[in-house]
Amino acid sequence: MTTIIKNANIYTSDGACPKADCIIFDESQIHFTGHIKDADMQRFPDAQIYDLGGKCLLPGFIDSHVHPGWVTKSLWHIRLPWTEDPQELLAFIRTYGQDHPKSEYPFLYFEYYPTSMFDEKGPTKELLDSAISDRPVLCQDFGEHLCWVNSKMLELLGVDKDTPDPGPLETFIRDEDGNPTGWVREMAWIKFADHMFRALNWYPPEELTADSLSGFFDFLRDSGITAMADGFIENEDQIKAIYEMDRAGKLQVYYDGMVRFWNYSDLPEKIATLREYQKLYTSKHIKVNTMKLFLDGTNESGNSASLHEHIHDAGNFGEIMMETDELVQCFLLCNREGLDLHIHMVGDRAFRVGCDAVEEAQKIAAQKGEPWVCQPVFAHCEVVDPADMDRPARLGIYINWSCHWSGGYFGEEAMNYYSDEKWRRMYQFNPIADSGALLAFSSDVVTGYELHRAYPFFGIQVAATRVDPEFPLNPNKYPSSIRPPESAKLSLPLLLKGYTIGSAIQCHWQDKMGSLTPGKLANMVIADQNPFDIPAERIGDIKIKTVIFEGKVIKGSL
Ligand SMILES: [Zn+2]
Repeated sequence: MTTIIKNANIYTSDGACPKADCIIFDESQIHFTGHIKDADMQRFPDAQIYDLGGKCLLPGFIDSHVHPGWVTKSLWHIRLPWTEDPQELLAFIRTYGQDHPKSEYPFLYFEYYPTSMFDEKGPTKELLDSAISDRPVLCQDFGEHLCWVNSKMLELLGVDKDTPDPGPLETFIRDEDGNPTGWVREMAWIKFADHMFRALNWYPPEELTADSLSGFFDFLRDSGITAMADGFIENEDQIKAIYEMDRAGKLQVYYDGMVRFWNYSDLPEKIATLREYQKLYTSKHIKVNTMKLFLDGTNESGNSASLHEHIHDAGNFGEIMMETDELVQCFLLCNREGLDLHIHMVGDRAFRVGCDAVEEAQKIAAQKGEPWVCQPVFAHCEVVDPADMDRPARLGIYINWSCHWSGGYFGEEAMNYYSDEKWRRMYQFNPIADSGALLAFSSDVVTGYELHRAYPFFGIQVAATRVDPEFPLNPNKYPSSIRPPESAKLSLPLLLKGYTIGSAIQCHWQDKMGSLTPGKLANMVIADQNPFDIPAERIGDIKIKTVIFEGKVIKGSL
């Protein structure tokens, strides 16, 4: 069935023809994009013709870093009221525990408390015990990298002063005697969770099945996201479930998966896992060709790798998972295997180590006559030293940024560690883009709590205005709640390209999607308003009326 759409306001993401008013397509591909006077309508005598009356039509969005597994596994968590008052929070937790006895909820997982509610020493287990002490309780911080647990939880995890921390990033904060205080970094508790669940004879409802994942994929469809990259595949159940959805004809999105590794020594084993996934779960819509590494932590929890010592803790430069030499070896192995490497990096030292490693690995590969095929993607890059800003363009590194963080989603927490000057240098991508690097945009949402923020027009609004409408910065300190510097606002064309063709290039899908170019798939969205016609602070209100995937309407109508 051929479809002709005319009288539309089309933004194509194709530099050769950015604006158009007519598009012709069928289930296999786009046949024409341009102006109706140039369209050869005779070629399509049986086509259905639709007049959009000037409505806006865009390429389907591509979210190039998002976490379906984590979002789905979080759906049983209990939402805390948003408050900066610890007593109000504890009162809520206490009442919740009274209303839901231990037999009903053997383990309570609350989210979120504001990360900045406590000082650098963090909250204590005793404080949480004062609300509930009969069963394990966990409160996750807003930044998702620090949690607060009670004494019962530490007891059932089997964690005490003699328990070594699982890793440099994953630690239990301790008092002078080495006893865990109840404050935990980077889900260090997960390593001991099985011990606790066995003791409780209860497991959280976190199975990843086609059924449990369907809510996430429905959200993508309704948001006009027609392709995505998974921040990493949680487990085999997850990729298997997605593959089964595809076999049943229910996967209406292109899916690019990544496999996580921790260091050079476990990389070969994880590559073997990736090969297994490729063999079992590759389909028209699914591919797995990328390794994922977390190189540092986050600014909010003070464990990002920084070029500067923490302002209140001399000698503390944060944490890094590996230094340049080891990362060079990882790049060389991925390159030999024909795999991409997607790296979580937040601090400016992590960014520098990443650039140094790519530069060195490319040199060694050239000396050995090995062609360079590995595509490095640096995700987050929340603070980059000015001296390194032009390196991604020179080294062919792609930068992946989550637009909806641009207003200061994680607020002022990084200020506990960074000077005001450095805090004000965060989240700047215009110099990187101006030097010619490729930017891909994403949401990186990790829980159901924030899933709505993965709506691309929401992220675009925040990055275009530097104001977070949900969690605005204090306007008395930051005029109009704009996160400084104002010069870091991103332009609408840059944002749309990064959410479409830029993300397609990151995923090697540029020949089949990312722009409304003849020969590519007919993946597109129709919006109720044109983002170019309204003020940037209203872009998030735009509604997706219709979504077309591979030439077929999957939401709304024409
Ligand atoms: Zn992520």
